[in-house]
Amino acid sequence: MDPTERLRERPGIRLGIMGGTFDPIHIGHLVTAEEARQQFRLDEVVFMPTGIAPHKQGQVAPPETRYLLASIATATNPHFWVSRLEIDAPGVDYTVDTLKKLAEVFPADSKLLFITGADAVLEILTWKQPERVLELCTVIAATRPGYDLGRLAEVLSGLERADRVHTMEIPALALSSSMIRERLAAGRGVRYLVPEGVAEVIEKSGVYASRHPAGASTGEEPGG
Ligand code: NAP
Repeated sequence: MDPTERLRERPGIRLGIMGGTFDPIHIGHLVTAEEARQQFRLDEVVFMPTGIAPHKQGQVAPPETRYLLASIATATNPHFWVSRLEIDAPGVDYTVDTLKKLAEVFPADSKLLFITGADAVLEILTWKQPERVLELCTVIAATRPGYDLGRLAEVLSGLERADRVHTMEIPALALSSSMIRERLAAGRGVRYLVPEGVAEVIEKSGVYASRHPAGASTGEEPGG
């Protein structure tokens, strides 16, 4: 059963939806989710790895690999879950479609808060139905230290519901998935940069070993 099916039974739930490619998941993502849970009084956080991301089709590790690594990374936090909604959806995943599906099944007294990176939010005007996204949820944009908030403010000024976007600085986001991929492609270790278990699966499977830092999906699963 997808965790969203179980969580929608909880009256008045404040649900964080951690949207991302997670290619691969790293410590910065976990710190972001936990900080959002505390700052925004979230009851639970569901990680939502993208299936086919609208803007990077065919360039990332296979969805099942990213789902597996996210499941391992979140296993020890009782408030963290991983959803297959986007992984299993046919075709390209647009955030608005995922939010619509959730809004249809979660009761009216629940609150949806979509957490993602500020650089992703910077592109929100190019997303499908951005105003509808902001009607359906509050957006929490996680920033790296030194992030230029002026650019984000400028982009958001083009939106009626800009007040629905909040920023949250996460020092641990000095880490990035691209940095992890670059280290792996160069044969360097990633222990302590990614959660325990994730490093082992990545290193044993070699999923990122021969991948170009920008990524190029072979469609193969680790060990496959
Ligand atoms: P991205 O372009 O790969 O990432 C942009 C930046 O945000 C990167 O620095 C990334 O760092 C960071 N980031 C991504 N997810 C994060 C998270 N949950 N917490 C903290 N930092 C995060 O963005 P993406 O991962 O493809 O997309 C992010 C979300 O926006 C996804 O849910 C995606 O579906 C959605 N999106 C929707 C549309 C649309 O509906 N048309 C278009 C674009 C994106 P790392 O690389 O270290 O994660």
